[in-house]
Amino acid sequence: MLKFVSNKGGGEPVDIETAILSGYAPDGGLYVPEHLPQISVEQLEQWKHLSFKELAFEIVSLFIDRSIVSAQELKSIIENAYGTFEKEEVIPIPKLRSRKNTYVMELFYGSTLSFKDVGLSFLVNLVDFFLKRKQERLSVVVATTGDTGPAAASYVAGKSTLDVWVLYPKGLITEEQERQMTTLQQSNVHPVGVYNCQEGADDLDLVIAKLYANQPFKNKVNLSSINSINWGRVMIQTVHYFYGYFQVADKIGEPISMVVPSGAFGNLCAGGLARKMGLPIKNLIVANNKNGCLHRIFTKGIFSKEPIHETVSSAIDILVPLNFWRYLYFCVDKDAQKLKQWTEEFEKNGMVQFDETTFNAYKKGFLSRSVSDEDTLAIIKEFFEAEDYLLDPHTAVSLVVADELNEEIGDHKVLCLSTAHPAKFPGIIRQALNCESLPEAATHPSIEQAKRQCQKGYTADHSHLEEALIQAMEYQCEQNRKIKI
Ligand SMILES: *Cc1c(COP(=O)(O)O)cnc(C)c1O
Repeated sequence: MLKFVSNKGGGEPVDIETAILSGYAPDGGLYVPEHLPQISVEQLEQWKHLSFKELAFEIVSLFIDRSIVSAQELKSIIENAYGTFEKEEVIPIPKLRSRKNTYVMELFYGSTLSFKDVGLSFLVNLVDFFLKRKQERLSVVVATTGDTGPAAASYVAGKSTLDVWVLYPKGLITEEQERQMTTLQQSNVHPVGVYNCQEGADDLDLVIAKLYANQPFKNKVNLSSINSINWGRVMIQTVHYFYGYFQVADKIGEPISMVVPSGAFGNLCAGGLARKMGLPIKNLIVANNKNGCLHRIFTKGIFSKEPIHETVSSAIDILVPLNFWRYLYFCVDKDAQKLKQWTEEFEKNGMVQFDETTFNAYKKGFLSRSVSDEDTLAIIKEFFEAEDYLLDPHTAVSLVVADELNEEIGDHKVLCLSTAHPAKFPGIIRQALNCESLPEAATHPSIEQAKRQCQKGYTADHSHLEEALIQAMEYQCEQNRKIKI
């Protein structure tokens, strides 16, 4: 049976259920499979015509042993997760007209209109399944740059096994994103708007890390994490790389490059692992905005934390791409000791300069760029005028990068990952199109509906967030216990 270990080497190997329910490994490391399943070309040929859900079943089955989740149970978890997506095919992949050989993978047809729905719809249903079987209840805390929060809140809403606390930096996400969290009526959803986050959502991650380190509190509220460090997110996100490749390639082996608007590297980590499993992706391309933390890693070999810039692509205003540590583990022969040293060095000095051998090992097959707001806004206008196709600001970042790297990519097909629906960012769309009234493509019924609903939630100041949360979460747990009796 495939086991899971910490990428920093601490603790014992655990089964998938434990890895998923605990979020972080006990030594603070990220769970990784002991080895990556290898997919043969024959296997890829057989999978080529599967639907997204069928493919998800095959790929997840490589990681989850049948003795833990039966075939029937897994099918029903996948059906519950993706049955609610707006499009029958789950992830449509249209071809663009105004660029040669360019496709977009529309990952935003889940309930909250971003690619976070693809991972969280599955993960929350899986966690709920495990918890029901164990008859346990968990509290989860997530921080959000605007899309994780709504997705987590929406899929957890109404689940009897979970409470979700969603921390967001007040004023740094759009009103539409805020309303996606605060208009949910279910009593197990607890949005917390946090004032004075100097470093955006990264500030919130620090507080969450402290809550995790607080063992008595952690036990008291049964705390876990479903943010992008959870292995379940990365595992399920490998599926859309396989699916996208199969949809676009004429035959297995054809070189295809993929461009990914990136922040915490959760999405691209999955792409990198899919390639290591045998999917013949040619280039994986990091599309960063001005906060070019990944661009620095892939061009200078430096993992460092710089001051934040607020950009028009706010979901990727990220300073510390945590999932890079997970990918790196597989690039250095699973040397957990090295990972432990690097992460400690980063915690101490705020930066790591990788040696030449390591840099070359992880850089292989990756290209990167960091792009400006001006170019991002300009390409939204250009596409809307040229082919009536409205990009959200994050997808726009990936298309700017695809244009800039056109020559390096060469003459093969390019698949740009489209990570959000433009209706989540009407202010930016107005700015880009330089118009007052929004085109219909920048609206969505669910966003309109949220405008007509009451909002609920907490607010807190960043300076007292930790104690405020402890108090509110402990209180909630007591209430839950009373209800049970
Ligand atoms: C989260 C997010 C990303 C970045 O994904 P990572 O896994 O953090 O790299 C890109 N675009 C949108 C719209 C997002 O919500």
